[in-house]
Amino acid sequence: MDGTVEDAVLCVLCPREPREAGPGHAACTSCMTRLAADLELIARRFGELTAVPGTTGTGGRRAPGFASKPPPNMHSAALRDPRTAPSRPGELHSPVHLMLSWALELRRLRGQKPVAYPPGADVAAVIGEARYLLASMDWISRQGWVSRFRDEVRAVRSQLLSALGERPPRKVGRCRRWLGAVDGPPEQCADALFPPREGSRISTCRRCGHAYDLLDMALLLDAQSGDRPT
Ligand SMILES: [Zn+2]
Ligand SMILES: [Zn+2]
Repeated sequence: MDGTVEDAVLCVLCPREPREAGPGHAACTSCMTRLAADLELIARRFGELTAVPGTTGTGGRRAPGFASKPPPNMHSAALRDPRTAPSRPGELHSPVHLMLSWALELRRLRGQKPVAYPPGADVAAVIGEARYLLASMDWISRQGWVSRFRDEVRAVRSQLLSALGERPPRKVGRCRRWLGAVDGPPEQCADALFPPREGSRISTCRRCGHAYDLLDMALLLDAQSGDRPT
């Protein structure tokens, strides 16, 4: 080693102040961990859509002139339909289509044979292909399309949770931890903080990893109640 410092490649997924992605990677470990957690959540909860009333057999089509927001059961029916794929960002996207299309693309790039699932085996397809994608995260983090993949996974996750009747969590504030900078003054983390996950009393900042307990969060909410977080 001659002490030469290579230009750091910055993560394409970090929301602000990108972290280093590591040699050969387009995304940092922290962002890839979040992406993996979203994939796992979709695979774990997709089967619950079968329990939502009115989710079979409609094919996800909407009547002409229908309001822009479908009722939750139509939303669920469309998400169960493997054909539901968005033509523009923001449109409904079936978890089945998401997993099958990305796993197919990845297998094609890697020269692997596609896997066929019997018609109707949608839960098995989502779980099976999510497992394949999760086992390929290192490979995915090296691809230029990782941000497009992450955006689709995020959109599907939020559509799925909304179809299951869950409202998106409201931010409780912004992280107040000061981060040391290599050059220049320290900066405040300021990433959005959300309430703890079910069964937990601790909320962890997704950017810096600082843990907040319930009292910390109450103080934060009080101190920042005049702010307008975006
Ligand atoms: Zn990142
Ligand atoms: Zn933080």
